Amino acid sequence: MSDHQVLVVGAGLVGATCALALADAGFEVAIVDRSEPQRNRGALGIDIRNVALSPASAALLDSVGIWPDEGLASYERMYVWEQWGSSALDFRAAEVGRTELGWLVEASALAVSAWQALRTHPRVAVYLGELEALDEAADGIALELAGDTVVAGEFLIAADGARSFVRRALDVPVRTLAVDQVALATVVRTAAPHEDTAWQRFLTDGPLAFLPAPDPHVCSIVWSQSAGKAERRLAMDDAAFCAEIGHAIEHRLGAVVAVDQRLSFPLVQQRVEQCVPTPRVVLIGDAMRTIHPLAGLGVNLGLEDVQALLDVARGQPALAEPALWARFARQRQARSELMMQIMANLQRLFGQTNPLMTLLRNVGVQTFNSLDMVKHQIMREAMGLQAGGT
Ligand SMILES: Cc1cc2nc3c(=O)[nH]c(=O)nc-3n(C[C@H](O)[C@H](O)[C@H](O)COP(=O)(O)OP(=O)(O)OC[C@H]3O[C@@H](n4cnc5c(N)ncnc54)[C@H](O)[C@@H]3O)c2cc1C
Repeated sequence: MSDHQVLVVGAGLVGATCALALADAGFEVAIVDRSEPQRNRGALGIDIRNVALSPASAALLDSVGIWPDEGLASYERMYVWEQWGSSALDFRAAEVGRTELGWLVEASALAVSAWQALRTHPRVAVYLGELEALDEAADGIALELAGDTVVAGEFLIAADGARSFVRRALDVPVRTLAVDQVALATVVRTAAPHEDTAWQRFLTDGPLAFLPAPDPHVCSIVWSQSAGKAERRLAMDDAAFCAEIGHAIEHRLGAVVAVDQRLSFPLVQQRVEQCVPTPRVVLIGDAMRTIHPLAGLGVNLGLEDVQALLDVARGQPALAEPALWARFARQRQARSELMMQIMANLQRLFGQTNPLMTLLRNVGVQTFNSLDMVKHQIMREAMGLQAGGT
């Protein structure tokens, strides 16, 4: 049955990186996606979808040759404050001996760069088509794509996103935490420069982030909020929206003078109970777990999955050996659960308006800011660096 050693479903950032890394390690890989990515540029010159990537993610993307040379902005500071408090969290890259905390990268620039690398890699076969059925047998797995194409292989990596077909086809149980929010994403132009800083303000209804673009007066926006508020803000005219979002960020970057198209994404937090559901299948990226975007961690966690998977697979003659994956599954599931809980607790904590909670939060933030060792360790962890720095 096996034409390919490894099948990857989903050429999003996680699946594409995984396919390239495994092919670089010597595996014959086939990757399937329903469509080829297109470069998107909005009215303010950049894509509306941007992702914050850690130094660890950047290193992995660079190692497979898809770190883009355009469409990215580094940020050296992150400033977080809240609607009801007087204290703020201030993270600066210099505190941990770095020049940047991470990069904001246009999602479509990365996707196109990954697609070109897949197309030209000598050990990668690319198949375009909707996955409609999968058949797991004793000697391998067959994927049936729309139009009667069948792609067969020994081992399947499902990177087919939050609504994973593979996960549903295999009936993999999922644990879900209610979020009750949608994310409104757009791009704005501001009167004052962003100063290479990622600004995030926790509002009672949800966090609002202004993330720096290459143009110092342009920021990409991720604003989590209730569905009702999002509906109203999507329907506003541009001038009213600019005034409202400027007020929401306390005019830290001066007036908001222009806004691009606004998009909304329903938010869900979920993770699979078992990311290696059969001896021949591993789920990674959003197919394994989706978390709230407030910390910009989704792709970064997916790329951590890729690195962990690579550490297991490198040098192995065959991957369909359950014993190989026990530790991987334990660690990745525990990490997913931990991240989901942290996001849910942050949301709960900052959603409280009573005065006692506000006071406790402010004392906590001030104390945290003064504990340099703890703060720096958390910064290194968020950047995907080893404690002690790399
Ligand atoms: C508003 C917002 C902001 C975010 N900001 C950040 C951020 O700053 N940093 C960060 O790290 N993360 C961020 N995230 C999360 C991030 O977008 C996701 O974690 C990431 O896109 C997941 O990548 P993936 O490759 O696992 O899945 P996807 O990107 O969803 O890719 C899945 C791929 O599988 C293909 N596919 C699916 N089903 C089939 C099928 N049946 N047949 C064929 N192909 C199929 C799809 O076409 C797609 O190409 C954000 C999310 C949101 C909603």
